[in-house]
Amino acid sequence: MKINIHEIPPQGVTLEETISGEILDVDRPDIEVDGPVRVKAQVQRKKDGVRIGLEIEAGIHITCGRCLDYIEKNITRQSEVFKPVKEDKVIDLIQIAREELVLGFPATALCREDCRGLCPVCGRNRNLRQCNCPEDSRVSQNIKIE
Ligand SMILES: [Zn+2]
Ligand SMILES: [Zn+2]
Repeated sequence: MKINIHEIPPQGVTLEETISGEILDVDRPDIEVDGPVRVKAQVQRKKDGVRIGLEIEAGIHITCGRCLDYIEKNITRQSEVFKPVKEDKVIDLIQIAREELVLGFPATALCREDCRGLCPVCGRNRNLRQCNCPEDSRVSQNIKIE
């Protein structure tokens, strides 16, 4: 999904492509793009660059910040990017879409509002089963010493 700025007609051009999530390589250990990713780009030539109106839709998996469970999410992002370009330049729309998609990712996510997370003592997922560990492991150690 690349476009040479010379190939952009005066009235602009709209490109649409569905790509695999894997090739985006989003560089977030807690997020996987399951793909496919739908990218729609309205490209318009301007005096000193190119204006790109982007619409991105992607299905992702994100890890819950508390219990590390996988959460399915659909991300949609609309944005407008301006790329200043010199002559004979080719614009890689996938690269731009990747940057924009990453910006649209949530910083963190919870599988549910009241996620109880992992037990800091035994590591068990407390949403699934309650353990009998004390809330704070340091307290339990002090008690044992006394
Ligand atoms: Zn959770
Ligand atoms: Zn526990």
